[in-house]
Amino acid sequence: MEIEQIKSLIRDVPDFPESGIVFKDITPVLADPIAFSTIVDLIVVHFGRGNVDKVVGIEARGFILAAPVAYHFGAGIIPVRKKGKLPSETIGQEYALEYGTASLEIHKDAVRPGERVLVVDDVLATGGTARAAASLVEAIGGKVCGIACLIELDFLHGRDKVRDYDLLTLIRF
Ligand code: AMP
Repeated sequence: MEIEQIKSLIRDVPDFPESGIVFKDITPVLADPIAFSTIVDLIVVHFGRGNVDKVVGIEARGFILAAPVAYHFGAGIIPVRKKGKLPSETIGQEYALEYGTASLEIHKDAVRPGERVLVVDDVLATGGTARAAASLVEAIGGKVCGIACLIELDFLHGRDKVRDYDLLTLIRF
């Protein structure tokens, strides 16, 4: 399936979750078997089997993409979750949102020293979320080998915040 065809499946939902935000709804992409397998395959092919030990999925839509990507790599999957959701010992990272701050957490023992970790999420907006997830991986001894997002919102310049990493985005608005 062509990437333009997948792009056309993404639904704009104005004023969600709050006024002024145009939410990029990827559920029609996930529901389409060919579109879904195509985006997973493009991520796997870009980073390559044998190059990734663990895949981080960022709550919550990142989980959906990270799981099949990890399976194809033969890699493990690690959840990065909002504050207070992970049950064992965690470290956290606060980061700026467009309005206010948020906090993400990872289990302290989620990677072994030097493991190569790919961070996966649905949308790169301001880049704060992806960068916080990458910092968490590094703080527990992992090496971030890349960041993959289905969508990049060019006008928010999130790419600048993660310029130290190999960034793959499949669809740009
Ligand atoms: P940011 O930290 O600004 O890059 O925001 C990225 C996170 O917020 C991702 O986990 C996205 O799921 C979510 N997000 C931000 N903006 C949007 C948007 N316009 N549509 C859908 N999700 C978004």
